[in-house]
Amino acid sequence: MDNCIFCRIVKGEIPSLRVYEDESCIATLDIGPAERGHVLIIPKEHYADVTECTDEALLGKLMKTAAGIGARQMERLGADGFNIVQNNKEAAGQTVRHLHIHVIPRYENHPVIVAWDPKDPGQEELRKVYEILKD
Ligand code: 5GP
Ligand code: ZN
Repeated sequence: MDNCIFCRIVKGEIPSLRVYEDESCIATLDIGPAERGHVLIIPKEHYADVTECTDEALLGKLMKTAAGIGARQMERLGADGFNIVQNNKEAAGQTVRHLHIHVIPRYENHPVIVAWDPKDPGQEELRKVYEILKD
């Protein structure tokens, strides 16, 4: 996709700091890191988001790469853990419409970045949602 910023990064038209690359994906530093060492795993092929990608081998590869980068963040940057975050569509905070996975290193005593306020829907509501979502 000519006007896709991540396709342009993959092609080398926009410079990026790649910490890993193979035949199907790259891992590059995020230019707006949530934490020191925040990495994006980007498939070389364009898919707008995870719902468009039916390539199970690629999806597995992306997750395996993310896990490997997280381990590297702990080994080399001294991170104490990491979040794997993957946004799909604007409502979920996706700003770049090319499938990607965030690997965000986490450091003890830093504020929690990926968080939500747990709600108490009650058993009836949980059961209703269960009926809607189950196979
Ligand atoms: P999203 O919000 O779509 O899940 O994440 C998009 C991410 O891409 C953001 O964290 C943003 O900082 C990053 N980003 C946007 N433009 C560029 C760029 O040109 N280069 C790099 N390395 N990261 C980018
Ligand atoms: Zn793209």
